[in-house]
This record gives sequence, structure tokens and C-alpha cells, in this order.
Amino acid sequence: MPAANGVLVVAETERGGLAPISAELLGVGRTLAEVLGGTLTAAVLGSGVAEAASALGELGADVVLLADSPALGEPGVEAALEALTPLVTQEAPDILLLGHTPDMRELAARLAFRLGTGLTTDCTALRVEDGVLVMTKPVYGGSANAEFTVPRARPQMATLRPRAFRPAVSDPSHHAEVRHVPVEVGAAVRSRVVETVREEATTGPSLKNAKAVVSGGRGLGGPENWHYVEELAASLGAAVGATRAVTDAGWVPPGLQVGLTGVTITPDLYVAVGVSGAVQHIAGCSGSRNIVAINKDPDANIFKHARFGVVGDYKQIVPPLAARIKELKR
Ligand SMILES: Cc1cc2nc3c(=O)[nH]c(=O)nc-3n(C[C@H](O)[C@H](O)[C@H](O)COP(=O)(O)OP(=O)(O)OC[C@H]3O[C@@H](n4cnc5c(N)ncnc54)[C@H](O)[C@@H]3O)c2cc1C
Repeated sequence: MPAANGVLVVAETERGGLAPISAELLGVGRTLAEVLGGTLTAAVLGSGVAEAASALGELGADVVLLADSPALGEPGVEAALEALTPLVTQEAPDILLLGHTPDMRELAARLAFRLGTGLTTDCTALRVEDGVLVMTKPVYGGSANAEFTVPRARPQMATLRPRAFRPAVSDPSHHAEVRHVPVEVGAAVRSRVVETVREEATTGPSLKNAKAVVSGGRGLGGPENWHYVEELAASLGAAVGATRAVTDAGWVPPGLQVGLTGVTITPDLYVAVGVSGAVQHIAGCSGSRNIVAINKDPDANIFKHARFGVVGDYKQIVPPLAARIKELKR
């Protein structure tokens, strides 16, 4: 078994700054690096991402590997895969962590194949036991947790569920050693972007990283009642989500679907209105810190997962609740 060579995290940027997952990767990365007694390194790849290097240092990285090239600014992961493969081979980290985000989960799977190592995706907890990374992830649609190890291969690779880990706290007095990494991707990038389609604009915060989400289910009765969900969400400053029954029926766009075959979210507050709590729906929201359910059926499965529940017709409950929240926020 090779000697421990620390933890490498692959940071992500958005709109010129660091994406929230980067601080989460560094938070857990620091804990693991301390247990292993190794270095915490962050790699950042992209075009015009030099400023992210100092932010990563402030978030606790000992070393930042900066791969800054216009070739890495294009959508898709092929260029990043070409840049990252030699970088990881050279650094030979004991543990390699990426976010379980749309681009990174594709990148992680392809990178693991190239490196000939295992990969555990969508992890919600990580710990080191006897030098081996124990990776926990929800299975069976979120009804159980399973632990995985890759004892004989290196690096031990995991993708991390967004908002499942405590983010590192920025310390402006902490600086990383920044190393510029040459980027050669050339002919390896075989796909090209022919069209970009923007996600339909929704009002309020985006579902993926929202701290509060209000979801509506089939129990609303029809699209004409969707405004109940939107009004409650607006009162809380929350994003809007939906069950698959609702998106399949075309009441709202598919991008709002929470669940196994939709978006996985981990807000502080999840309010489910007229949602039965099917196992496939719970798979996408079980990481929420507090679930509040409003359902007229006291035996609905959602109540098994809810911290607070209201049994009754949502039409009687949602309007006064939204009005009271607005009043308290004034
Ligand atoms: C392979 C597979 C993948 C799937 N993936 C997903 C997924 O990603 N996300 C997802 O959500 N589902 C998914 N599903 C579907 C899932 O199994 C459920 O069918 C779906 O979640 C049910 O949606 P619902 O809770 O809106 O509807 P229902 O199950 O019909 O529940 C409606 C609820 O509203 C309550 N209600 C009715 N009237 C009122 C009222 N006036 N006031 C208050 N409450 C009321 C009822 O008591 C009931 O509990 C998947 C299914 C399969 C087979």
C-alpha cells in the first residue's frame, strides 16, 4: 500500500467565484487530512479562475493547483478529464474528493476508470479508519445507508452530496502555496457544443442550493392551485419543488422534480404540501434538516420523515401560514 499522500479536492467555480461545494470539500478534506497526517490540496480548473486560488487558501487548502486555460472554459468535462488525469497521477493523493454535481459526477466516473480505482458517489459521510476511507451513502432510495471502502486501490475516490458536509470557514490570514499547472488538452476533446438551452426561468431562489424549499404534490388537486405553493415559498424566501406526479402531469417544469429521478436537495427547511412521501420522493429530500408536512391523511408516509406535521386540507392551512410568516418577517 502506498504511503499516505494527503487529500486532494477538486474545487468548482461559478460566475467567477467558488461554488458552495468547494468549501464543503475543503471542510471534510481538512478533517481527513488531519487524521491521515497529510497535506490538503485543492485543484481548480477553468478559464479565468486565478482569483479562486486565494479563496481556496483562505478556506484552508495547504496547496492550490491552478489549471487556468481558455480550453477549460468550455462546457463539458473532456478537457477537465485530460487536465486532471496527469495531475492526479503525479500528486498521487490517498483520497480524492469531488462534488456530486452534474459535471463533477461525470468527471469523477471517467477519472476513476482511467486511474483504475473505485469510486463511491453521492456520499453523505466520510471517515478514516485504520488509514482506510469509509464512505457512507444512502441506498434503496434513501431508506438505508451503506458503507463502502476501497482498501486496495488508490486514490480512494468519492463524490460528496452538496450541503451534506459542514463548509470550511474562511480565514483571510491563511494562504496556500499556489502552483500553476500546464494544461494540454489538444485533440483529446472530441465533442463540441452546438447549442445551449437555458433552463426555464423560475421566480425565487434556485432549487439546487436553496436553504428552504416548498414542494407541492398531487394533493393540490390541479395546476390551478399551484399558487398556494408559490405563495408559501415566497413568504419564506424559499425555492419551489414538486413531486414526479406533478411534473409528469405537466403542472410545472421537470427541473423542479425532487427525488430519485429528479434533484437531490439538502435544505435546512423542506415543506411538503399534498405530498404522500413515496420512497422515490424521499430519496431526494431525506437530507433536509427539517421536514414539515401538510397532508390530510394522518397515515401518509411523509409524516414518518417529518419533524413537524399538520394534518388537514392544505387550502385551510397554507394561506394563514403564509400570512403569519409574512407578518413575523415584517
Ligand atoms: C422508478 C421511479 C422513480 C420515481 N422517481 C420519483 C422522483 O424522483 N420524485 C418523486 O416525487 N416521485 C418519483 N416517483 C413517483 C413516486 O413513486 C410517487 O408516485 C410520487 O412521488 C407521488 O407523488 P405525490 O406525493 O405528489 O402524489 P400522491 O402519492 O398521489 O400523494 C398525494 C398526497 O396528497 C394528499 N392530499 C390529497 N388532498 C389533499 C389536501 N386537500 N390537502 C392536503 N393533502 C392532500 C394525499 O393524502 C396524498 O398523501 C418515481 C417512481 C418510480 C417507479
